[in-house]
This record gives sequence, C-alpha cells and structure tokens, in this order.
Amino acid sequence: MGRIQLENVTKSFGPAQVIPPLNLTIEDGEFAVFVGPSGCGKSTLLRLIAGLEDTTSGRVLIDGEDLTDVSPSKRGLAMVFQSYALYPHMTVRKNIAFPMRMAGVPEAEQNTRIDAAAKALNLTDYLDRKPGQLSGGQRQRVAIGRAIVRDPKAFLFDEPLSNLDAALRVGMRLEISEMHKRMRTTMIYVTHDQVEAMTMADKIVVLQAGVIEQVGSPLDLYHKPRNIFVAGFIGSPTMNIFQGEEAAKYDCHSVGIRPEHTDASTTNGLWKGTVGVAEHLGSDTFIHVHDTGLAETVTVRISGDMAVEHGDTIYLTPQEGRMHRFDAQGLRIE
Ligand code: ADP
Ligand code: MG
Repeated sequence: MGRIQLENVTKSFGPAQVIPPLNLTIEDGEFAVFVGPSGCGKSTLLRLIAGLEDTTSGRVLIDGEDLTDVSPSKRGLAMVFQSYALYPHMTVRKNIAFPMRMAGVPEAEQNTRIDAAAKALNLTDYLDRKPGQLSGGQRQRVAIGRAIVRDPKAFLFDEPLSNLDAALRVGMRLEISEMHKRMRTTMIYVTHDQVEAMTMADKIVVLQAGVIEQVGSPLDLYHKPRNIFVAGFIGSPTMNIFQGEEAAKYDCHSVGIRPEHTDASTTNGLWKGTVGVAEHLGSDTFIHVHDTGLAETVTVRISGDMAVEHGDTIYLTPQEGRMHRFDAQGLRIE
C-alpha cells in the first residue's frame, strides 16, 4: 500500500516561506507528477515526503500513519536516482543485491527478491551483465530494481531524465510508464517538462511559487485549465491568450485558443495576418502569425502538407466551442 497525504504542510527556509499551507492526497498505486517552473517547490515537496527535509508545520501521512517525525529510512519510500549511480564493476545481480547485503538479508532471500524484481522489470536475461553492457533504459531499470527489493510503498523520482538527450528521454519515459503499469506501485515524479507530465501521469499537480494551481488528469488540465497559468503551462505550443476587444466579444477579461484549435486558410477566415515564421516539423507546421491585431504573435498548428512561408497572408478561424474564457483574476469561466 502507498497512499500519501500532505495535511496543511508548510516549509520555510529561514524567513522565506517556500511552501504555504498545502493539502494533497496521492492514492495508492497512482502515478502522480509534480510539474511547474524551476524554483516552484517541486523538489522541496518531494523531499518533505521522503523525510529528507523537515516540515515547518503540518503532517505527512503514509497509509494513514503520521510519519512527519519519522526518519527517511523508516518511511518505506524509495528515492530513485539516475542510472549512473550503479556500480560499474558489479553485475546487475550484485548491483540489485547491494542494499540487501548491507542490511544483512540472508542470501537465499536475496535471490528470491532479485528474481522477482528482475521479472517485474524484464531484466531476467541481463542479471549476469555489467552496467556497461546495458542500454540507458535497462540501466535505469536496474537502479529501480535496487529500490524494488526493499519493497517500498512508493517510488519518488526527481527529474530523473533531465540530463539525457531528447531521444533517450523518450525511451526512458516509456520504460518508466510501462514499469508502473506492471507494478502498480505509487510513484511520484517531479519534472519541469509538461510533456513528461502529460504523457506519464495519472494525476498532475501543477505548482507555482509553492502553491498548487490545479490537480487533475492530463486531459482535465488540457480541456479545463482552472486559470491562465495552467492554460499557458499545459500544451505545446502554448495557448494563445487575447485581451481587450477580442475578450470583450466573449464577455470576459481574457480569451484563450490553442494552436491546434485554430484553422488556417490562404483565402478566407475570421482574422487576417501575416506569417512570420513557419516551423516545418513534417507531420505538422507551426506558423507564427503577426499583424492580426489580437496579440503580437498568434501561433497556429496546421497540416504539414499546407504550403505556407514567411510573408504570406493567412486567415485564421477559431474552432467552434474551443475558446477558453478567464475573468479579471485569471480564473476560468465556464
Ligand atoms: P524546484 O525543484 O521546483 O525547482 P525547489 O523545491 O528546489 O524548486 O526550491 C523551491 C524554493 O526553495 C526556491 O526558491 C529555492 O531557492 C528554495 N530552496 C530550496 N532549498 C533550499 C535551501 N536548502 N535553503 C534555502 N532555500 C532553499
Ligand atoms: Mg528541483
């Protein structure tokens, strides 16, 4: 079991309160992602759960038990570090056995747990290899295997993929997601990358300056962002936001439309503009349109087949029912 609750938790470093009172529940078996810009308190929150930082006030409960004052090693949680934390001269089996050997677990018991972990992680055929003979994804799995044999209630990851190149990141993201689907152990994953959050999470927790802006499934956040911050943070390229006259037409202070919810035509449409940059990705093209009178730049996703270049005149039309409305405080209006 691994249900994690934060009750009125706060954290200050000296006079600076980085986490104002915060409440959050992560259900057993859930894959929760904490996402937000750098410095918003993601790592601090994870470290408070792990016990690596003390709360200034409030309680941390795991499966209903108050563990606020319990040391990290007694919380039954596993922080997973990057794959290069493996011992290069030891086989996979020895790497996974290492924490159990330190804890004096009998050898037969060690082998039972290693075999079970290897099965869960698809590592059975690699137990006699050394880390140097494994792919990046397999190495990450060994690092997780070392945590699994301790049978943690939850795995905590702090930006485990941020140092990797783009292609490897995508592969590792899939590895971790698949592993969660097989094991169904609670996972909390911290990232500043909204694409990682969207693709991996059951539940996303969006943070800004230590405050939870929204908690929900990836598609909840995409379709119904609670406020302009979440609207701008989730989705890529970012949502276009218009104020002034255009917002007034919709009877609100700001309106937003996503690049993929705006149609483009070279002959007719609601808004007229000039193409600044056309980014050709092959499957899609992102056009950045100027001179619409709506905002400095309006970004639109069009089919990769449409021939559009810098300087072309383009007409844009928002798709029916896709506008997001926000009030003077930036909160969503339904
Ligand atoms: P994130 O992981 O979202 O980038 P952090 O949780 O690391 O953010 O930091 C949140 C805020 O707390 C930042 O303003 C950071 O400077 C501050 N902070 C984090 N750790 C300490 C510390 N040990 N002492 C003082 N300030 C800290
Ligand atoms: Mg951090």
